[in-house]
Amino acid sequence: MNGLAALLAAAVLTTAPRLTPPPGPSPLVIRAASRAMQPGELVVLTVSSAASLTAVHARAFNTDITGFAVGQNDPHRWRVLIGIDLDVAPGRHPVVVTASTTAGPLESTYELVVRPKKFPTRRLSVNEAMVNPPPSVQPRIAAETKEQQAIWDAPAPERLWTAPFVRPVPQAANSAFGTRSVFNGQPRGAHGGADFRSPAGTPVKAPNAGRVVLAKDLYFAGNTVIIDHGLGVFSFLCHFSKINVAVGDMVTPGQIVGLVGATGRVTGAHLHWTLRVSGARVDPLALLVLLGR
Ligand SMILES: [Zn+2]
Repeated sequence: MNGLAALLAAAVLTTAPRLTPPPGPSPLVIRAASRAMQPGELVVLTVSSAASLTAVHARAFNTDITGFAVGQNDPHRWRVLIGIDLDVAPGRHPVVVTASTTAGPLESTYELVVRPKKFPTRRLSVNEAMVNPPPSVQPRIAAETKEQQAIWDAPAPERLWTAPFVRPVPQAANSAFGTRSVFNGQPRGAHGGADFRSPAGTPVKAPNAGRVVLAKDLYFAGNTVIIDHGLGVFSFLCHFSKINVAVGDMVTPGQIVGLVGATGRVTGAHLHWTLRVSGARVDPLALLVLLGR
């Protein structure tokens, strides 16, 4: 046995029982950005690695989320958008991040610690048919619910946006996001969107690029446009007086998709924008802060 072989044999013998770092590419570094870690917030995870990543996925809140590379020519930095739905219970929620590399998969777990948030209750008076719809419109409401669920279940698998998100209207939003609404004295579900105080006729801009997947009058929402931005991100904009786009249209960021109105279950003209991120209802204002211009 020559000197080198003896050395290697000794190395094998001595290293075998020890804990050595696993071979292969360096691990994933995960950073989280958000306004707060609370229900209704968006969390932007940045996943970095010294290795070249070819795909990044995350599993959070029992949902698979597809990530995207931050820059076109940078395989080392990826993002994953995680929505903390309005109804998520406070506590620790693990996010399992997996990345593909030519040398095999990498996995890391990031723990989201969601703090409690108390949303206020608001009392509103609206047309009685919007609180207790007559039996004659029940089939219509059921069909619309089913149609929307089918849309949420089939997002474009690729990212259709690249530019920063923009405000759909120049006016400010009130604090309606997340409030538990009581219509005509009867409690209804949480308000899953932001309401912007815009006068009737204000042009509504597409918050970002995407495909129009619904453009019609819905019973509760009135004239509605849903834009599929891809990777599970949807904008649901409603109460329009006029719709300017049709299903199948590809819209550009800032393109006028309709005009503010007072159709559906409303107390007056305003723009309602619900943002869905992989099924979670998150405050659109959080999106504008984190990924806006
Ligand atoms: Zn609203």
